[in-house]
Amino acid sequence: MQELDGASRYLLLSRNRAELRERLARIRFEQQHGEAPLDAALFGQGQRSKNDAALSCLQSSLESELEQTVRALSRLDIGHGDLCSRCGRPIEATQFSALPYATRCAPCATRLSAAVA
Ligand SMILES: [Zn+2]
Repeated sequence: MQELDGASRYLLLSRNRAELRERLARIRFEQQHGEAPLDAALFGQGQRSKNDAALSCLQSSLESELEQTVRALSRLDIGHGDLCSRCGRPIEATQFSALPYATRCAPCATRLSAAVA
């Protein structure tokens, strides 16, 4: 498995951030301007409301990914990118392989998802 050092993770996250912003901008455009070719291609004609719901769903997942990406970048900016935001211990390389924007070590991330579920 390839390990990401701080610099390449920063690059990857910056690229992801740009891509997420672009995808969100496209979704907003679509929501404002309606019947885009994507509608028909993805959902068929007359499926506008389903499309809206799917877009909103996609939008909120992209927004949350963008938020986490921005947070990870700002932690890298202040030199804390490799440390868990909760317990302060180093974040495992495997966490970053799974989630380049991880801000928690594996035990803290597990504890959090257990608390949310
Ligand atoms: Zn931790």
